[in-house]
Amino acid sequence: MDLAGNILIVEDEESIRKFVRINLERANFLVREAETGEEGLRIVQEEEIDLVVLDIMLPGIDGFEVCKKLREQFPRIGIIMLTAKSQDIDRIIGLEHGADDYMVKPFNPRELVLRIESLLRRIKGSIGEAPNMIIYDPFTMDTYSRKFFKSQSKIDLTPTEFSIIKLFIGNPGRAFTRDEILNLVWGYDFMGDSKIVDVNIRRLRSKIEDEPSKPYYIETVWGLGYRWRDKE
Ligand code: CA
Repeated sequence: MDLAGNILIVEDEESIRKFVRINLERANFLVREAETGEEGLRIVQEEEIDLVVLDIMLPGIDGFEVCKKLREQFPRIGIIMLTAKSQDIDRIIGLEHGADDYMVKPFNPRELVLRIESLLRRIKGSIGEAPNMIIYDPFTMDTYSRKFFKSQSKIDLTPTEFSIIKLFIGNPGRAFTRDEILNLVWGYDFMGDSKIVDVNIRRLRSKIEDEPSKPYYIETVWGLGYRWRDKE
């Protein structure tokens, strides 16, 4: 699969921006730069951007606000947040923002490249795949166009949410540990926290369950992880 992609880096600190750019170009990505959130949002409107590397601390609107606006308009764009402190993680991947992944500064550029490649795989997962509809009443998943419906209504999923549902719906009744979900969805040995799985599940439940506080489709397997409800 061709994983080349157009990456936008939004970061006001020039040294970090250049450092990221050099490392991404070395990995054969096309890179655009923005110094502010406003500039970043404009570039995404005007150009085909697959994935945004987004710093939180920016002059003008901050990275959280940019993330929220991006998600409203481009549910399928990839978003990796850059943060200076690990305490921000809950907020970064929280319900309202919807980032796919995050990195804590200072970070290893090789790891950023790995995470970008993994996320691009989630975004472009349908390329080369035969058209396929997975039906699990009341849900329908079109893995080719990467669309997801509940009854007849389309539900916008982030690339990461789509990959999780695809894993679940293809394996009803199978319990997955958080680590398995990290490996199978994020695609490599994630060096962070499996909390990112829980936050994504919470977000998914709010999108697909009739009553998110009493989930029916995505079951919690206590002490282990999650399971998609088996067909009766
Ligand atoms: Ca900054």
